[in-house]
Amino acid sequence: MKFNYLKLCLSIFLCSFVAQGIAQPPPSPIELVQVQDDIYMITNPFVPGNITFMLTDEGILMVDNKFAWDYDNVMAMIATVSDQPVKYVINTHFHGDHSGGNELAQADGTVVVASENARLKMVEDNMSGLPTVTVDEHAFIHLGGKVVEIFRFGRSHTDGDVVVYFPEHSLLAAGDMFTYGADVPQLIDYSGGGSARAWTRTLDEVLRLDFETVIPGHGPVTNKAAMAEFRDSTLNLRLRSQEMVRNGNSREEIADMLRNEFNWADFTLDAGLDGLLAESQ
Ligand SMILES: [Zn+2]
Repeated sequence: MKFNYLKLCLSIFLCSFVAQGIAQPPPSPIELVQVQDDIYMITNPFVPGNITFMLTDEGILMVDNKFAWDYDNVMAMIATVSDQPVKYVINTHFHGDHSGGNELAQADGTVVVASENARLKMVEDNMSGLPTVTVDEHAFIHLGGKVVEIFRFGRSHTDGDVVVYFPEHSLLAAGDMFTYGADVPQLIDYSGGGSARAWTRTLDEVLRLDFETVIPGHGPVTNKAAMAEFRDSTLNLRLRSQEMVRNGNSREEIADMLRNEFNWADFTLDAGLDGLLAESQ
């Protein structure tokens, strides 16, 4: 378990990881899950982030693409169900376990799409494979007679998270705005523009969309009810922190509460504790 946490942690700091010239880890073991007739998920326990992809007769639309070193395995897995090229990949946010395949995808002719805020972060962090199409708040992509919608409602995990909505499938690819399972606790990446305070509000906007199935950023396929529960936990987390800050509890006591009540681990504390305390004043 520790190993997985470490790798998820590395996903946030991917740029420095690569910049330091550290040898690449081996590709992650991955698994293909058919979610609907023409929609699949490529997943693995905990790390890196889930991939969603939709088949059409005119090419494939993909959401997120794991690390660069997963690219060949991911493409080989897609080739087992379609001989179409990947026309678009949408990055739900800038973290390397969701956008690390961009440069290789572009070399294969895939158009990379993300929010403008996510792209700004990638520029700041000298990441390769910058998106060439960016979204501010809302966009549609039409491909092979099917449509997806991209929404950015506000800050949550970072300040550039989008969700990808498949209206005809009643399905949402949520990115790390929603992670599912005790092993992938809420991660507020304050250095990436994340916000505990905004997160609940952002999820309220997402939950107004009409969908049933949810592919989270990490964890197994689930549904809207589970996402609504996660929304409530983001509010509880903030209220508990605020209560303890106002009661004068120490930083260590608040960290213990986050570990015990919200399954926080070292990497979520590193990314989120300072910012959460500042937002809880
Ligand atoms: Zn992330």
